Amino acid sequence: MSKMVLQRVFRAVIMGPPGSGKGTVSGRIIKTFGLTHISSGDILRNNINAKTELGLLMKACIDQGQLLPDDVMARLILNDLRTLGNTSWLLDGFPRTILQAEALDNAYSVDSRLSSRWTHTASGRVYNIDFNPPKVPGLDDVTGEPLVQRDDDTPHTVTRRLKAYENQTEPVLEYYRSKGVLETFSGTETNQIWPHIESFLHRKLSIHSKKVA
Ligand code: AMP
Repeated sequence: MSKMVLQRVFRAVIMGPPGSGKGTVSGRIIKTFGLTHISSGDILRNNINAKTELGLLMKACIDQGQLLPDDVMARLILNDLRTLGNTSWLLDGFPRTILQAEALDNAYSVDSRLSSRWTHTASGRVYNIDFNPPKVPGLDDVTGEPLVQRDDDTPHTVTRRLKAYENQTEPVLEYYRSKGVLETFSGTETNQIWPHIESFLHRKLSIHSKKVA
């Protein structure tokens, strides 16, 4: 008797400005989750050290902190990713421009964490295949009943929702940002983000009550 095992490939991009601790966070993610780390900067530095044609050509540009041409970068990174096949990976340093992001999107369809979401309708319990999977794939942990996907959590719709977010919601973030009232919290899991949100609100609320008093 054959048994089908549900296995998901997890692919992610980590972004953040220089000095934002991206390297440290990447290291932790890789150590904990066993993803393959693809760092565009490391790949380029290896090319420079090995004095490859690419390394020699691009050294001056890199030394000046300029971005390399999109087509060169896209070919380099996509070739590397192709050799990984169905492995889970974390991309670091790529994409850095819209053109690079589009090249990546064309090679790998958008696979948002939303499309990984499954729900137990009766109780409203939510599972995420990547971060919080049910003990038995497709079944609720408590009742053993089947899980369902919301109609708007399918990959096709998620792509559209992400586009809508980009077009309609991001300008709203900018609006609040320009007023100086936007606070952003970063992280991939609620447990990780919550302490920051909580202490931020504690701080805000205590200042507010002092003013009122
Ligand atoms: P990093 O270590 O990621 O900061 O990369 C070091 C340098 O490599 C950058 O300053 C760029 O010159 C070049 N580089 C790395 N990744 C990219 C990329 N995705 N697009 C263009 N240039 C890049």
